[in-house]
Amino acid sequence: MSSFSQLNLSAPMRANLEKLGFATPTPVQAAALPPALAGKDVIAQAQTGSGKTAAFGIPVIEQLTVASFSVQTLVLCPTRELADQVAKALRELARAKENVKIISLCGGVSIGPQIGSLSHGAHIVVGTPGRIQDHLRKGTLKLNLLKTLVLDEADRMLDMGFEEAVEDIIGQSPSSRQTLMFSATWPKPIRTLSERYQRAPVDVRVEQASVPPDITETFYEIAPGQQLDALAALLSRHQPDSCIAFCNTKEQCDNVAAALNNLEFSALALHGDLEQKDRDSVLVRFGNKSCSVLVATDVAARGLDIKSLPLVVNVEPARDAEVYTHRIGRTGRAGEQGLAVTFCTPAQSHKINRLESARKTPVKWGNSSELLTAPLEPRLPVMTTLCIAGGRKDKMRPGDVLGALTGEAGLPGSAVGKIDLFDFQCFVAIDKGLAATALKRLESGRIKGRKIRVRYA
Ligand code: AMP
Repeated sequence: MSSFSQLNLSAPMRANLEKLGFATPTPVQAAALPPALAGKDVIAQAQTGSGKTAAFGIPVIEQLTVASFSVQTLVLCPTRELADQVAKALRELARAKENVKIISLCGGVSIGPQIGSLSHGAHIVVGTPGRIQDHLRKGTLKLNLLKTLVLDEADRMLDMGFEEAVEDIIGQSPSSRQTLMFSATWPKPIRTLSERYQRAPVDVRVEQASVPPDITETFYEIAPGQQLDALAALLSRHQPDSCIAFCNTKEQCDNVAAALNNLEFSALALHGDLEQKDRDSVLVRFGNKSCSVLVATDVAARGLDIKSLPLVVNVEPARDAEVYTHRIGRTGRAGEQGLAVTFCTPAQSHKINRLESARKTPVKWGNSSELLTAPLEPRLPVMTTLCIAGGRKDKMRPGDVLGALTGEAGLPGSAVGKIDLFDFQCFVAIDKGLAATALKRLESGRIKGRKIRVRYA
């Protein structure tokens, strides 16, 4: 579809799009609009800037019955910033219809005025999951006449720990609803959410639909004992924000991680000897970008739900071709470019020969003496993790933490990263530059009316 006129849009909507300067649909709009306008469920892979807001905004507004003063559409967003931006974009699109009321309901501000606005009736509500739950609990928001539910930046909502809240809200909406889901990435939890709550959704993947992984593989021959120097040089040269370095033994994992930390890289070891709570903490910090290098054994890394990584390193060659393929498959996903590097001593070269014969193609060797001259430049992680003493069993929800940070503590939502909630504690990633402020303000504030203990993880 190359033009909006090919869609069965109302004349005022067409005129309004023209006024907004939307001449041709973006790829995600071209693919998502026809099924969404037909009332079907859609799961779309779409980034900010792809035109995703109009991809759900146009159908939602076209289907709206203005005469009925009930909430007909709910858009769930991960942060207040996004919710405000979406509400603003929807208001622009809604100029095609008279008297459409759109309100935004987010945490971090007092609830009273929101209750006031709701009592005057609204057609479209845009909000963050925690605050929407609050209104549902109070009965100030009702979803019994909801026609369309939109999950915007669904992956980010799950990253921020809103899974339970989102499921709770979905559970309170009519099963006849249309569900439109937008997500930049499609990890397993997103697909599960879609399978659970969408009906025969139309898949919209405009960018790099299931492209083969784009992985550059390089092998370096090094002297025995040179692994650490080579790894430090490689990390300095490529500056990845996340990387897994595979080792064959637990001892080597510990040694490599400790040596990297001595050189001021930020590394954590992951292997089978860790207690569950230490494993959780390692995975939390690596997953939320407060640690950039995970030094792991194959077994420990199995089943990690980690999005695509820019770099995977084999500190030692993998045992066989299957393990090798599995290791490097963690990079170059979803159309991103990946780099997989393997270090190999002369004594280990038979493993590479076996790999070549298994894959029926020769590997490419890099120049290791050149690599080893790279000046040391450790990259510091972008986030820092705070650990809050309080978790699910204390009835703490991600929204409470987000609310405390963006409300009282005055942090922008964009500075808050992943929120990982456990039974008795909660980890939250904060932009490194703002972590000290966040810590101080959280310590002097309250969450759910009580003082809390916070520390660096
Ligand atoms: P979004 O990805 O929804 O945040 O949209 C990104 C930007 O693209 C917004 O500023 C929209 O106003 C704009 N936009 C959305 N759809 C179109 C279109 N079909 N033509 C031109 N601009 C658009």
